[in-house]
Amino acid sequence: MQATVALAGNPNSGKTTLFNELTGARQHVGNYPGVTVEKKEGTYTHKDFKLHIVDLPGTYSLTAYSLEEVVARDYLVNEKPEVVINIVDSSNLDRNLYLAVQFLEMGVPVCIALNMIDVAKKRGIKINAQKLSSLLGVPVIPTIARTGQGKQELMESAAHIVQAKTAFRPLKISYGDDVDRAMLDMEKEIEAGNFLTALYPARWIALKYLEKDEQILSQGQKLNPDLAARLEETVKKVSSHLLNTLDTYPEAMVADQRYGYIKSILKQGVIYQEYDPNRLYSSDKIDKVLTNRFLGPLIMLAVIAGLFHLVFTYSAVPVDWLGIFFGWIGHGVYTILPDGLLRSLIVSGIIDGVGGVLGFVPLIMFMFFGIAFLEDSGYLARVAFMLDRVFRIFGLHGSSVMAFIVSGGIAGGCAVPGVMATRTLKSPRERLATLLTVPFMNCGAKLPVFALLIAAFFTRYEAAVMFAITLGAWAGALLVAKLLRVTVIKGESTPFVMELPPYRMPTFKGLAIHTWERTWQYIQKAGTVILGFSIILWAMMTFPMLPESGMNEFESRRQSLLESVPASVSRELVTTDEGIDLSGAALNLKKQLQIIDYAKAEAGLRYSVAGRIGIALESVSQWAGFDWRTNIALLGGFAAKEVMVSTLGTAYSMGEVDPEASGSLSAKLAKDPGWSPLMALGLIVFTMFYAPCIVAVVCIAKESGSWRWGAFTIVFNTLLAFGLAVLIFQTGSALGILVK
Ligand code: GDP
Ligand code: MG
Repeated sequence: MQATVALAGNPNSGKTTLFNELTGARQHVGNYPGVTVEKKEGTYTHKDFKLHIVDLPGTYSLTAYSLEEVVARDYLVNEKPEVVINIVDSSNLDRNLYLAVQFLEMGVPVCIALNMIDVAKKRGIKINAQKLSSLLGVPVIPTIARTGQGKQELMESAAHIVQAKTAFRPLKISYGDDVDRAMLDMEKEIEAGNFLTALYPARWIALKYLEKDEQILSQGQKLNPDLAARLEETVKKVSSHLLNTLDTYPEAMVADQRYGYIKSILKQGVIYQEYDPNRLYSSDKIDKVLTNRFLGPLIMLAVIAGLFHLVFTYSAVPVDWLGIFFGWIGHGVYTILPDGLLRSLIVSGIIDGVGGVLGFVPLIMFMFFGIAFLEDSGYLARVAFMLDRVFRIFGLHGSSVMAFIVSGGIAGGCAVPGVMATRTLKSPRERLATLLTVPFMNCGAKLPVFALLIAAFFTRYEAAVMFAITLGAWAGALLVAKLLRVTVIKGESTPFVMELPPYRMPTFKGLAIHTWERTWQYIQKAGTVILGFSIILWAMMTFPMLPESGMNEFESRRQSLLESVPASVSRELVTTDEGIDLSGAALNLKKQLQIIDYAKAEAGLRYSVAGRIGIALESVSQWAGFDWRTNIALLGGFAAKEVMVSTLGTAYSMGEVDPEASGSLSAKLAKDPGWSPLMALGLIVFTMFYAPCIVAVVCIAKESGSWRWGAFTIVFNTLLAFGLAVLIFQTGSALGILVK
């Protein structure tokens, strides 16, 4: 006997574990046609039956809100698997049965796997599977997917459904008098018009109209516009009636009644709590304080601000050490190698570039450690839960929060996994709004840029400025999301359920592993991508070199300067060893020579490819106070944000020739007359909001399904960032704030 069995269930109910347990090595992974959702298939053989097993994407519901839900539903409708095994998490039975009830309403052949029965047992929950089976009218088999316990019995009852050709009549739940009556009317119309009835039961179609299922609504409009309009009209009438009488909506009514149905089933002796059900789990007790309406947000702000404070205070020392270390290497190489292109490449291109990025490793490690602590302890999920209320105001979704945090919402993430994390979002509009705004978060690559500018101009307020940057990123992201949701991506919001895992004391080993994984990714990026871009940018900043005539001019200025002083003075400069004090005249000569070298280096940089691009952009960028060197760095930042630091490093170490006087880059910027705290502030804001790095843009284009959105982020974000930077710079200059 052969048949197809689909595994369906909520995310994290153990589908994939069961799938692997059943199919072993006989599996095949692909994508569902036309979408990025993974499709896993395999076979299970037992005695004389061979079952073809498909692992459906995890969903909470069968209403076409998210891609996963559309995929799962389309599969059931089009492929008509002989059996659907619904895997439910027994430790969370009421919520998991919500999906089971929808399968029953759809009338598909279902068999329920009561998975994680071990977890339920540990929590003192006892479940009477037989009772549940008889009340729902489908087989219910307790399983532990991790150990494979119950899998054989499960497969046998699935095979039994196939062999016995059991008829499954769709479950009918009462949705209250008003809704029921409207549904009856709609059912009649649907049946008379043969409206989609080949695919779904008539009552189910009516239900989807009430739930405003977008897929069914648009199918209906295409298929039979008149009938569809009549159905929509009926829904409108019930809606306004419900609003007037019960102050609720059909969708909410449907959900309430479904949960009510589940509750009534569970109360009939299906579920038995061994401990006192009123006893609060310690997690719940902690939650009473940490997610309290008033205390919760305050604690959240305090925790995040505290994290920044700790990170910046304790990482300062190792950051200094590394800075000294790279300075020392740079100086060593500088003295060993003769003057020329090779020395320039190694010192300015490689050591300064990569060193500038690696120098921030301790800071990033501390930050990741703090985030890993929040994540592993379960507090991060509470942060998401609390922010959900705020997110709705901006047309986003509770689950958007995770994408934002992954992208660097607490600072130090990456927009690439953030964009990927939006895959779990329900409606396509909220998903799009989220993935277009996650790049505004302060990813790990922007941190070194901020750290550099803060160290140069806002030393005394480090933690405070960093905190303000984080809040600013959120404010920007939310406002832009709102803007997008009322303009280019208009549409309704979708309902939301979110898991709150129990609190756990993180283990040091777990934290260390998480911290190291992320830090190592950062180091690898510095070692490969950044090294490559450092070299390319160095080349762009070096070539073409000044023509002979330009070189000669500086050389002759040098010569005439040397001739203008007594020979003893210039000799003193050459022969005096390091560390020995020069006479006043020699010191003066040294300074004069430096000025010439500096002018020569600057002329060289201006003449290079990068310099020309930077200068060409200056006519626009001057509005924000950015000079051509900053423009070069910003161009580099499009490749990867941390390249900005290395590019500035290269630009400024090339400008300053004397290696002994080369302090850290931030000290150089602080001293440079072209820079002011105001300009640094504008640059911080520009860096926060301008075009995402190339990798993120590619991801956005892929995940949104269109290169137009990729192009949109580049153009829109850069214009927005520039507008803000100009606003800051012009206002500040006019009022005379933060200027030097
Ligand atoms: P999916 O999202 O439904 O595919 O869920 P997974 O198969 O990825 O499982 C989620 C987590 O639950 C994994 O860490 C599994 O190891 C764990 N898990 C799955 N089944 C069981 C079970 O029966 N008992 C226990 N204790 N853990 C399980
Ligand atoms: Mg899975």
